[in-house]
Amino acid sequence: MDTRTLLTRLIAPLGVGDELAGHRVVEVSEAHGMRLVVARGETRVFLDVDALDPSFAFAAATERLAISYRGADPSRPITGRDGRALAEALASRLIVNEARVLESLAEEARSARTSSEGTARIREVQVAHALEPGGEGEARFDTISPYVGCLVGCTFCYAQERLHRTRALFSLPTIAWGSWVDARVNVADVLRGELTSGRDPRPIKLSPIVSDPYHAIERRFRLTRAVIEAIRDDGRRDALLLTRSAIVRDDLTLLLDARAHLGFSIPTVREEIRASLEPRSATIEERFAVLADARALGIPTFAMIQPVLDGDVVPLADAIARTCDSAQLDVLRGTYGAAAIFEGPALADLARADVQAELVMTLRDALIARGVRVWDGELPPDLMHPPRA
Ligand code: SF4
Repeated sequence: MDTRTLLTRLIAPLGVGDELAGHRVVEVSEAHGMRLVVARGETRVFLDVDALDPSFAFAAATERLAISYRGADPSRPITGRDGRALAEALASRLIVNEARVLESLAEEARSARTSSEGTARIREVQVAHALEPGGEGEARFDTISPYVGCLVGCTFCYAQERLHRTRALFSLPTIAWGSWVDARVNVADVLRGELTSGRDPRPIKLSPIVSDPYHAIERRFRLTRAVIEAIRDDGRRDALLLTRSAIVRDDLTLLLDARAHLGFSIPTVREEIRASLEPRSATIEERFAVLADARALGIPTFAMIQPVLDGDVVPLADAIARTCDSAQLDVLRGTYGAAAIFEGPALADLARADVQAELVMTLRDALIARGVRVWDGELPPDLMHPPRA
């Protein structure tokens, strides 16, 4: 069961279009864990549902679930009173279904086919949904995640805390981030159905939120490949892939046929920094080599630099200019499991907020001077327009 289906069952019969504490339910989402999106006028509110863990803050709780809230738009904040009223109204809805739904979930989790890949544990799971909507206005897109859990195992990955709590709901044991994966084995079949269902043909993003689309297990399951084949066969959607893995090289011809954009996360040209933060990712040299080959084939390429981890940005700017059409930059937004590395001698100065802001500006100028288009937000500018004919 995917987590969107889980939340749908937990809140039933409440659904999209219904009223909750003076707001309208507009979306049930799993892109960032279990999330209900509600709105009143122009104000949209995210209500996140997680396994109850007293060490995390929450606004309301049931026996096993915790609800937190935040405004979707920082310029339209929600009052604490409204937020608590929404969280409590949702809790009262969850209480009705919680025991029955979570028991059936645990039963399903116990019956999933499992196997090992080295030291990693793999579960094969089925999903009922493939595409998750995201973005606003011209930057609307859908995301798709062929896997949940990631064998790259970056120490700073912000997905790990949330996914560990979601696994608790499935009554699955807590094991180290980077050592488990749920492979959504029917995701491409579900996607093919959704692509022909008359939905708005937004660009589709395969980018790390809950997994890397090309982590090592892709060579066994080829789920990302099957997803891109479905997008290619449909022909109405643009696609964007972001990865830290050179396994994407297996599919460059397919990406070209699907007219997909390919990006790599590249925070630094210093290999020792990459290795300390991303133990099982492609080397920096491999990433630039794949980007160069992709670009030579005619695939639009980009670099995602977030955060900037080079004090001297010139070598990074030069390498990006040789291999990428565009770049997206951002500062450090949290260290998660890598706090000790970011506070250590190699990175402590670079990780300061004022230094990060300065580095982003300097790198931005250096890239623009070299002819690289720099963009902000979730999509490159050429994917933000109405879909291709
Ligand atoms: S590759 Fe992405 S999803 Fe995987 S561990 Fe690293 S940051 Fe997380």
